[in-house]
Amino acid sequence: MISVKEAKSIINQKIFRLGSEIVQLNNSTQRLLSEDIIAKFPSPHFNNSAMDGFAVRSLDTIGASKENPVTLKNIGISSAGIPSNLVLNKGECIQCMTGAKIPSGSDAIVIVEDTTGFSDNPNVKIMIEALPESHIRKKGEEIKKGDILINKGTRIKPSEIGICATFGYGELKVSKKPKIAIFGTGNELVEPGKNIKEGEIYNSNLYVFSDLVKKIGGSVLMKDVLKDDKEHLESFLSEAMESCDLVISSGGVSMGRFDYVRDVFLDLGVEEHFWKVAQKPGKPLFFGTGDKTLIFGLPGNPVSSYIGFMVWVWPVLNEMMGGNRIKSFKAELTEPFPLEKIKYRYLFGKAWVEDGKVRCKPSKKSGSHMLTSSLNANCILGAEPSGRQLNSGDLIDINLLPWETMK
Ligand code: AMP
Ligand code: MG
Repeated sequence: MISVKEAKSIINQKIFRLGSEIVQLNNSTQRLLSEDIIAKFPSPHFNNSAMDGFAVRSLDTIGASKENPVTLKNIGISSAGIPSNLVLNKGECIQCMTGAKIPSGSDAIVIVEDTTGFSDNPNVKIMIEALPESHIRKKGEEIKKGDILINKGTRIKPSEIGICATFGYGELKVSKKPKIAIFGTGNELVEPGKNIKEGEIYNSNLYVFSDLVKKIGGSVLMKDVLKDDKEHLESFLSEAMESCDLVISSGGVSMGRFDYVRDVFLDLGVEEHFWKVAQKPGKPLFFGTGDKTLIFGLPGNPVSSYIGFMVWVWPVLNEMMGGNRIKSFKAELTEPFPLEKIKYRYLFGKAWVEDGKVRCKPSKKSGSHMLTSSLNANCILGAEPSGRQLNSGDLIDINLLPWETMK
């Protein structure tokens, strides 16, 4: 049995980076960027009007009011997409719509409501004094040309899609999706929706795994629930090791009479890097490598499988795709946390901000078979083994579940 720290360092040496591929902006949602997105031009791209109105020279409007309007000669129109080439001279104005280029010679927009309005009459009455630059969106006021807009490693979400579109990126360079095989083992497992007999249980782990793979942006290439027999395991695994970057199993790696998963891994030539980690839940964790595949054998208890995926597999997938570093942070316990003497202890929990501090508490249900401990959890709490107890007020490490926020 090795420590959590040793196990992490062994895994870190085996992680490989996936290549990248080009996808259409439309198909890029949730992918991880493999390139920085740079502003190819300033934003706004050119001085333009923030309102529908008239482009004027502010000097011409000095003293203008409702009672004493200034009359200017309307010499043309500048609309969004159809800029005017006219140059504004003293005593002139140009109709200018929202988003339209500000004509040369103009330094302010008077909104249409402060004029006699749009009409064919060449004389426009201006009923307000325009301050220089009013209602003008200045070139580059938001973003300068060459600014980094989005760092590589960022996940594409609606804001990122919007920014890429704004700056003209029709396609993006993103990390390839990891190809993943997931399987569960156990003669007792039945698919949800079917009837179960005494002694059987529903397979939940593969449903959790599938959703987690979807969330991180991988592709499940192979998925199956296998009986506890070597033949089934061998045929699934040999194919998975040919076609996948990562194999994740649940169950069958403990000390049970019918726990064949590790034997089959070894029979197929998987190089074992460790089996058993000083952690609770999930001690019989297996990690090995094939020629081009990382292999994780997670124990079958639902909490061991779920926490095991989040603690061991998720960071690996994230790094394979070049994702931004996942940060853990400290939070103050509001309830005691059950430490272990020689095992690192993980529990689902809840974290929230209160009085400017991050506070947290572990789930009350601590059994590795109690998957309801993950309901309403937004983080995983983790603590080194120790002879003493962690009490309310002590600090503990927490990892926010990546799709959750602090509640
Ligand atoms: P194992 O690691 O195979 O010894 O399984 C440990 C416990 O987890 C047993 O109670 C299994 O019935 C249960 N278990 C194994 N696989 C699954 C699964 N896919 N879904 C839900 N529970 C499972
Ligand atoms: Mg089993």
